[in-house]
Amino acid sequence: MTKPIAPLNITPVTERLSDAERHQRMANLSFGRTFTEHMVVIPYKDGAWQQGEVKPYGPLSLDPSASSLHYGQSIFEGFKAFAQPDGSVKTFRPEANAERFNRSARRLAMPDLPPELFMAAADALIDLDKDWVPKNVGESLYLRPLMIATDPFLGVRPALEYLFVLFASPAGAYFPSGVKPVSVWVSEDFVRAAPGGTGEAKCAGNYAASLVAQAQAQQKGCDQVVWLDAVERKFIEEMGGMNLFFVYQEQGKIILVTPELTGTLLPGITRLSLLQLAKDLGYEAEERKLSVQQWRDDIASGRMTEVFACGTAAVITPVGQVKANGFEMQINRGENGPVTMALRTALLGIQHGTTADTHHWMHTVA
Ligand SMILES: *Cc1c(COP(=O)(O)O)cnc(C)c1O
Repeated sequence: MTKPIAPLNITPVTERLSDAERHQRMANLSFGRTFTEHMVVIPYKDGAWQQGEVKPYGPLSLDPSASSLHYGQSIFEGFKAFAQPDGSVKTFRPEANAERFNRSARRLAMPDLPPELFMAAADALIDLDKDWVPKNVGESLYLRPLMIATDPFLGVRPALEYLFVLFASPAGAYFPSGVKPVSVWVSEDFVRAAPGGTGEAKCAGNYAASLVAQAQAQQKGCDQVVWLDAVERKFIEEMGGMNLFFVYQEQGKIILVTPELTGTLLPGITRLSLLQLAKDLGYEAEERKLSVQQWRDDIASGRMTEVFACGTAAVITPVGQVKANGFEMQINRGENGPVTMALRTALLGIQHGTTADTHHWMHTVA
């Protein structure tokens, strides 16, 4: 038996920012630097989620012995709300994020959060901070849910107390001066995820472990790191914090290939959506393993015409150049490809409400 979800208590800021002040903070938006006026907090203790609260955005107070700070019981999510042409606000596939949040929670021995509570928290926050949803195409309100272990206890075991937090950040266009391909470094020195590890979970530790590889990619003159499988160091997994797609053109057919979910890839919701959208656009789409050698051969033969990465934050990013120990190659002459851009336009159209939402991906908030 699940208990009905108690409505969140709402304690707004005593004085809202003026329109002028908010507009000033929303001018020149980048990613993840500006936050709205409220946040949601829901504590978990005694084996149950307690009364949740929407309250003024601000620092959290944690005991220094809180186990998330030491042992990394910490997960997060990311999804977006978009202003619609009719003035309403909709989120993109939030139920999928709520489900993935719980899969991450289980992998880290943390409690499930009822998806209805996840949804109610997001809807309440967005509704209260609706004025912070940017209106231009390419802009959105980015929602960041997280859960941390708060037990004041140094023993290593699953914590008994947790805090769910949700806050929001207005985000500008990821490519303010137009979409531009990135260059990638294929990492042989570091791995992101090993079989049986936490690669499928959106946990803080995965990102901590990725930072030196990303720094190495930059030293090699590349924008992003590409991860290989941990066992054979042969198969392509993902790019930084985004999933990868490879575009083939053969005998008049367009075929998209994305690495299959082997347990060490993060199952992206953008990836899942693009597998569907590809079919809507008349392309074929396959999930399978792809080796670095195959990647090289298929670029060299011209069968593979485009490569792109996808994720919530940047939507779709073309990959224009690949570097690794011992080789370097250009993809589509380092330019944006037509299939990449068609998929990008299709997805953004649904999110911004300018194209029919035939798969019912958009959730009306306010
Ligand atoms: C979040 C994430 C992605 C992309 O997932 P989306 O649901 O599309 O945003 C891909 N790879 C990693 C490692 C991630 O953390």
